[in-house]
Amino acid sequence: MITEETYIKPTSIAEALENAKSSESFKYIAGGTDLMVNLYQGNEDSVMLIDLSQISSMKKVEVSGDYLKIGALVRLCDLSKHAGIKSEFPALIEAADSVGSPLIRKAATIGGNILCENRCLYYNQSEWWRESIGKCLKCEGDVCIATGGKKSCYSELVSDTCPALIAMGAMIEIQDEQGSRQITLEELYSGDGVRPRNLSKHALVTSILLPLHKEYTVVFKKLRQRKSLEFTSLTTAASKDRDGNLIIALSGVDPGPVVIRAKVGEDKEILISQALRKSRAIDNDMLTRTYRRQMISAFLNTSFSELKI
Ligand SMILES: Cc1cc2nc3c(=O)[nH]c(=O)nc-3n(C[C@H](O)[C@H](O)[C@H](O)COP(=O)(O)OP(=O)(O)OC[C@H]3O[C@@H](n4cnc5c(N)ncnc54)[C@H](O)[C@@H]3O)c2cc1C
Ligand code: SF4
Repeated sequence: MITEETYIKPTSIAEALENAKSSESFKYIAGGTDLMVNLYQGNEDSVMLIDLSQISSMKKVEVSGDYLKIGALVRLCDLSKHAGIKSEFPALIEAADSVGSPLIRKAATIGGNILCENRCLYYNQSEWWRESIGKCLKCEGDVCIATGGKKSCYSELVSDTCPALIAMGAMIEIQDEQGSRQITLEELYSGDGVRPRNLSKHALVTSILLPLHKEYTVVFKKLRQRKSLEFTSLTTAASKDRDGNLIIALSGVDPGPVVIRAKVGEDKEILISQALRKSRAIDNDMLTRTYRRQMISAFLNTSFSELKI
């Protein structure tokens, strides 16, 4: 049970890291729209919650050298209020606007979105539901219910902003007891459905950095059962920059993002077959694997036309 003693509200990054170090079992909480559902369903049982919402330094949007630096605590609904994001990175606003519902976007943060837990039809269920069919690899069982395999979990990365951010060259800033460092957003993801992020235990993602003046044109698409409120079954973002570089990024079809880099002029059929080969989608989604794979081709073909390449 969460009590006043186990719900901590640090006001600085240093304090948050200290709180984390002092607890054996904790979770950071930003908007809480992903974490609280996982706690309620028994997929998460941390004893202490460290609420990041009072750390004002993680709520800023500012130019930092050649990058636009977006604090990890910026709420999805606020991204469109920043002129710099609106003018240079409208695809990020489009992606953020496709997340959940207006109410969710009022609480959800950009950092929480790139870090939200992977999903699977057999995992995102109540505890009694999962117990009744036998627990799987992602919740301390010994078999994947979806595939019958004993080695790999293919729970899906469902972040919608992740593909848009990768298509615009995003880096992230991470802070832990070793100090602060930057990595590409792509490097955050391990590709392992059980432990999908390459983050040390206490690490905080403090900001997202987007390179300025690359003149990205981005086509964003999301496949879901209804437009009003639904997790993705396939999200694609395809971009070209002023130098003719292409980036294709997908979520919803693999435990991590599927990313292809190419140049304008390369064979589009080959690019699509590379995306299909890298996507390890299985039947653990509301829409079938076959259909989602067909939609990868359909979305990318349409995106290439819209990009005029
Ligand atoms: C009904 C419903 C519909 C949804 N639909 C979508 C959807 O369409 N698309 C989509 O992408 N998501 C969807 N979500 C999931 C979720 O709402 C979003 O991903 C949201 O952006 C998560 O952000 P948050 O700030 O609420 O994260 P939180 O729930 O606070 O945190 C998510 C995870 O990230 C960690 N974390 C958060 N911030 C940091 C940080 N700065 N550093 C280190 N760790 C951190 C937390 O410990 C937790 O593990 C939906 C959720 C619900 C309940
Ligand atoms: S893919 Fe398999 S192991 Fe992973 S969450 Fe789903 S059922 Fe569990």
